[in-house]
Amino acid sequence: MIYFDHAATTPLDPRVLEVYIKTLKETYGNPSALHRLGKKANGLLREARETLARIYGVDPHEVYFTSGATESNNWALISQARAYGKRGKEEILTSSLEHPAVEKTLAYLEKEGFRIVTIPPREGKIHLEDFAEKITDQTGGLVCMAVNNETGDILPLEDLGNLARDHGLFFHVDGVQGMALKEIDFKEIYFTSLTCSGHKYYGPKGMGFLLAKNLAYSLEPFHHGGGQEFGRRPGTVDVPGAVALAKALSLAYEEEEENQEKMEDLKSYLLEGLDKAGIAYEINGLSGQKSPRICNLWLKGQKADKVLMALDLEGICLSAGSACSAGTLQESPVLASIYPGEEDRLKESVRLSFGRENTREEIDELIESLRKICG
Ligand code: PLP
Repeated sequence: MIYFDHAATTPLDPRVLEVYIKTLKETYGNPSALHRLGKKANGLLREARETLARIYGVDPHEVYFTSGATESNNWALISQARAYGKRGKEEILTSSLEHPAVEKTLAYLEKEGFRIVTIPPREGKIHLEDFAEKITDQTGGLVCMAVNNETGDILPLEDLGNLARDHGLFFHVDGVQGMALKEIDFKEIYFTSLTCSGHKYYGPKGMGFLLAKNLAYSLEPFHHGGGQEFGRRPGTVDVPGAVALAKALSLAYEEEEENQEKMEDLKSYLLEGLDKAGIAYEINGLSGQKSPRICNLWLKGQKADKVLMALDLEGICLSAGSACSAGTLQESPVLASIYPGEEDRLKESVRLSFGRENTREEIDELIESLRKICG
């Protein structure tokens, strides 16, 4: 089996699995309990929170454990929109490249009466001035992901963050695909909320976080119950999940340089191989910097569904478009917004996403299979 779908999810790192199992077995106390087992669990939860706070340069009270980025995006967007809306700021500006976890949340807010202004890229770029000129007295916030999950494009967070700060707006960042990249230092970026899921970084599924800066009074609890997560997300916290998530992200950052070099090598090796094999392709996406983990290719003249099924038969996994809609092979709204009217490209594009365990030999096998399929 060859797996090139790490932007959809990753396997558990054995080192993460080890701490996960150890915590599951040994720390079953409820972290809210006052006895020693509860205190032990609470100590581990506090350490996990502090680890994430250190990585992102925030206060531990600004770290909320959640079930993943979908929940975190919903929570941060709905809470901030409503808090700003109460002050008459009912307009939100967003890039057109957002994942459904953001895009559909904004559509939900639109039904509540918020105005969502979607800003597409122009000439292969997101332009800061396109956002700046749309800001009005009613604008409450800006929304932009860190790295696009389909194309790997790195988005201009620093500039957008500064724009938001200068206008007193909230700035929500879906950071899921943008962690542990040398190009993005979240400590240097102004944001009010940042989200992530552990399973994209060799951590457990169903575990993520929301960093909510200075939002303690505007984060609306979606559920009602106990006082967990600073009284804002009731329910017994998954301590082994939190410990494993913090371990997964710590490893991702510790090994960032090595992993990134490896993926850059795999990506250029892939492109050289495609050239040598005479396979017609174009790299999809914007014109700026890209994450080396993701490579979206227009395989000219080859229907993506046919290519994916043929590769699957050879034991090679990759996807088309966003993972969440990949099962149904819908055309990608992200590619459609970058390439309006390019119907063939939308039907003939596939996404490869690399991981730490991939090798050049696996790329050789992929190219050999593609040569057969496309030839
Ligand atoms: N945001 C982005 C950019 C993603 O890539 C994903 C998952 O693919 C999500 C949000 C949703 O993450 P989860 O399904 O873990 O909640």
